Amino acid sequence: MSGTDSTKYIFVTGGVVSSLGKGIAASSLGFLLQRRGLKVRSIKFDPYLNVDPGTMNPFQHGEVFVLDDGSETDLDLGHYERFLDQSLDKANNVTTGQVYHTVITRERRGDYLGATVQVIPHITEEIKSRVRKLPAHSDKPDVVICEIGGTVGDIESLPFLEAIRQIGMEEGLHQVMYIHVTLVPHIPTAGEFKTKPTQHSVKELREIGIQPNVLLCRSSKPINDGLRQKISLFCSVPSRAVIAAEDCSTIYEVLLRFHEQQLDDIVCEQFGWHLPAPDLTQWSEMVHTIKNPRKHIKIGICGKYVNLKDAYKSIIESFVHAGVTSDAEVSLIWISSEDIKQGGAGKFLYDVDGLLIPGGFGERGVEGKIEAIRYVREKNIPFFGICLGMQCAVIEYARNVCGLEDAHSYEFYRDLKHPVIHLMADQEGVTELGGTMRLGAYPCILKNGTRSYEAYETTEVSERHRHRYELNNAYREMLVERGLMMAGTSPDNRLVEIVEVPNHPWFVGVQFHPELKSRPLRPHPLFREFVRAAVKYHEDRGGHHLAESPEPRDIHHQTK
Ligand code: GLN
Repeated sequence: MSGTDSTKYIFVTGGVVSSLGKGIAASSLGFLLQRRGLKVRSIKFDPYLNVDPGTMNPFQHGEVFVLDDGSETDLDLGHYERFLDQSLDKANNVTTGQVYHTVITRERRGDYLGATVQVIPHITEEIKSRVRKLPAHSDKPDVVICEIGGTVGDIESLPFLEAIRQIGMEEGLHQVMYIHVTLVPHIPTAGEFKTKPTQHSVKELREIGIQPNVLLCRSSKPINDGLRQKISLFCSVPSRAVIAAEDCSTIYEVLLRFHEQQLDDIVCEQFGWHLPAPDLTQWSEMVHTIKNPRKHIKIGICGKYVNLKDAYKSIIESFVHAGVTSDAEVSLIWISSEDIKQGGAGKFLYDVDGLLIPGGFGERGVEGKIEAIRYVREKNIPFFGICLGMQCAVIEYARNVCGLEDAHSYEFYRDLKHPVIHLMADQEGVTELGGTMRLGAYPCILKNGTRSYEAYETTEVSERHRHRYELNNAYREMLVERGLMMAGTSPDNRLVEIVEVPNHPWFVGVQFHPELKSRPLRPHPLFREFVRAAVKYHEDRGGHHLAESPEPRDIHHQTK
């Protein structure tokens, strides 16, 4: 943009409880500033000791968001990429583990010249240098938005808070802004909102030496002016900068509410920027469609972590984006694959308009997934398999179409007669688990005339990967002879990236993770076409279900 020379910094902290949506708040503000013509970059600090979340169980951490460069990052990076329509890299996610790793490696090399190595200044210096590296690293941004994971008051986030306090002091307070996301709970029995948790959280922040400029107050209902004044008075934040962040039915609406309360104006005033108002027409139309869809379809998702929706964050968002193109609400029906028994998939899938099998690790629930795939392949219900979902589709095809009864993946059993999914040659002998899979963006060449080619409308695409196993080339010829189409391969044709069943309304399995590249205003082509096929399937059967006696299921409506 014009009119600014030095990069400004906005720090986003959280108080009272975790899961207040700091990532969504930071990305929403980033979008508003970007639409005002600014170059925005994001960075997320995660105060845990793991070097990256790649080794963490999804129950601990939710989804691992993989970037083009292969780094395994926090799921908030997904929000940044989606809202800002940018591809990030490893510099955008910093963990305590990485910071300590760098400092200790340096200490072992003797770089500290005999000094006692301490949290302050050595760890804090490393944290600050990671934030300041961003302007140097990329095309110089006008503003860096930095989210500090965890909650103010946690022991482990203290070095990060100290570092951002120091940045404010060093850069000058007109160059930085502190935004604190807090909770204003509504107590139904008292019929009142409570501001005390917010007061305490701000007090804690001020004890560390940080005075917030803006408070984003999460609440279940709108907060009134009286409450705003009270929070303003106790927390020393101008009442105009006490912004209500009440629950919205879709996360994409949050930025519209922020803009109505002039959050982006407040930021521009702080930094002395005179910029035109953002054009939010397209975004508002998208939000309107999400909230008022004309069509409704149901997609079954059959996986292992169905009780933990954060493990499938990007898939859920991809369906929202794809739904907009078809003017459809996509209700997701979560089916635990362990519940599906041989011949019993229909009880769960009798009314779905499509089935998606997501990525995963480990053998638990795999037989249920294979059974679900058999059902939708035979009943001509649209199918989309991602990573492990694609591998299960290959196993199902090998077993039920090629007659290889004990076809399976080498991931689960080592002495198989038909390991149709096998270890990639370069994975033999790998013992370290962190960062050793096939990770990040790889090119894929598409075959003309396939569903995938129709969707992407091009022959070469780049998609992100996170897996160790692959379709075994020893079975490729047999699978092709029996009708399975190798619709996409690596440029050297060694690795199969996409399989399709041709005489089927829509049956596509991909070895990569398309959900990582879907953006609100640019849905991923495969999700877009899968949803389109599901809408068509729904309309063609005129709302009639396949006759099966139903099992109770967990239904998740798109905008919730
Ligand atoms: N477990 C499988 C593999 O490692 C699939 C991984 C995934 O679905 N992300 O190849």
